Amino acid sequence: MKTIGHFINNETVAGTGAERLPVFNPATGAQTGAVAVATAAEIEAAIAAARAAFPAWAATPPLRRARIMFRFKELVEQHKDELAKAITLEHGKVISDAGGEVVRGLEVVEFACGIPELLKGDYSRNVGTNIDSYSFRAPLGVVAGVTPFNFPVMVPMWMFPMAIACGNCFILKPSEKDPSPGLLLAELLKEAGLPAGVFNVINGDRTAVDALLTDPRIAAVSFVGSTPIAEHIYRTASHHGKRVQALGGAKNHMIVMPDADLDQAVDALIGAAYGSAGERCMAISVAVAVGGIADPLVERIASRARSLKVGPGLDPEAEMGPLITREHQAKVESYIEAGIAEGARLVVDGRGLRLQGHEDGHFVGPTLFDHVRPGMKIHREEIFGPVLSVVREANFDGAVRIINEHEFGNGTSIFTRDGDAARSFADQIEVGMVGINVPIPVPMAFHSFGGWKRSAFGDHGMHGHEGVHFYTKLKTMTSRWPTGIRAGAEFAIPTMR
Ligand code: NAD
Repeated sequence: MKTIGHFINNETVAGTGAERLPVFNPATGAQTGAVAVATAAEIEAAIAAARAAFPAWAATPPLRRARIMFRFKELVEQHKDELAKAITLEHGKVISDAGGEVVRGLEVVEFACGIPELLKGDYSRNVGTNIDSYSFRAPLGVVAGVTPFNFPVMVPMWMFPMAIACGNCFILKPSEKDPSPGLLLAELLKEAGLPAGVFNVINGDRTAVDALLTDPRIAAVSFVGSTPIAEHIYRTASHHGKRVQALGGAKNHMIVMPDADLDQAVDALIGAAYGSAGERCMAISVAVAVGGIADPLVERIASRARSLKVGPGLDPEAEMGPLITREHQAKVESYIEAGIAEGARLVVDGRGLRLQGHEDGHFVGPTLFDHVRPGMKIHREEIFGPVLSVVREANFDGAVRIINEHEFGNGTSIFTRDGDAARSFADQIEVGMVGINVPIPVPMAFHSFGGWKRSAFGDHGMHGHEGVHFYTKLKTMTSRWPTGIRAGAEFAIPTMR
């Protein structure tokens, strides 16, 4: 069984602490490794290494930093299959989906390769007589990223390519449930020529995170995970004077209008609800069927859900893999029980799925509820499993209201052929990422990712220009060179003449 340590100052560190957390292969249920929990001394070593590396890295011309990003991009492409396999072995998602995750992370690296352009400042000549003004964006220092289990490559890559390209040093604390891919990324960054201390990985759980949230040498914290933890991170880190972006949980609705292309809507829902076994913050977990489309919609989803190929992620035929842990499998099953108890109609039941040869895998099959009503536990809470709820609603306004009244506002979408409905939806919906006939509207790297309401705390999204702004601070210079200074002191507040 492998032991998973840390990566500090460009060296793999075995982990000296006694505490270890188990890592499982979700497809078999077997423990495959143990991840070392970082000790206070290891956390200190990572912060000190990052702090020591910062002045030289910040002073490195952005073009040189970009060249390292270009080499890193090539290396990630070369090692894509290895990274995808590492994801599947610890997360469980099917291998094609794991490969897709690597590509979506890579797109942020591609964007970060343009950092010389992105960091270009503003210049105004003669803001007053013989006075020039210019502004530029400076890196923050040492920044930390705390990431969830469900995208062990993509979510760290929402953060560190931008942070590093902007001239910061980075400490990653990956999820303790699938820690290996983060260490592979660290090796590739080293191979790409990243100087020691610029990127570090410390493994562990909340103890490691708490140290990062309070240490005065950490300038900013990026977090992605569940809402209660996102809120805790936001409050604690901002209380300690840090810049924070903390993305939380979700409950994403897709409205299916009566005029929607039914085949398209069903295809979209199957992929968006059951892909990655529903363990995506942009998964669609509620379909709001408007008017008469509900009956045919439910019927078709049910038949497709029943025939989905559930299997171990390494099986190229599998369309849906297992859940991350046995505890999470039990939690998802308990939500199914809650839905039945509250009176929703269980159309397809994924409980009790046992696959031959993988009897101890954490599998829950695709599950479909009809006649779910707003306010039910299965509608209020994020299940994070392959459970799709159908809510029936009479009209467009009612459907929009259901979404706007929900505490989360990460992603949403509408399927319709009516441009007017689509346009009204775009205007009225109180959600950060909105799709029109697109079920999972995850923004590209050159746009920014982030939800509204209790799906995100802090005011900057991930990557895109928001990422550049989050990881830099603005400095504005006003300069005058000729004789003026020698003319004597001025006692009135400066105004431009
Ligand atoms: P989680 O909140 O349990 O853990 C996320 C990270 O926080 C992990 O690194 C974990 O070790 C750490 N952590 C856990 N408890 C902590 C504590 N008390 N103090 C400090 N740190 C702590 O989330 P998860 O189960 O790994 O991931 C699933 C969740 O992430 C879902 O809610 C999902 O919606 C959300 N998510 C959101 C987005 C988004 O962009 N909004 C993207 C991916 C996942």
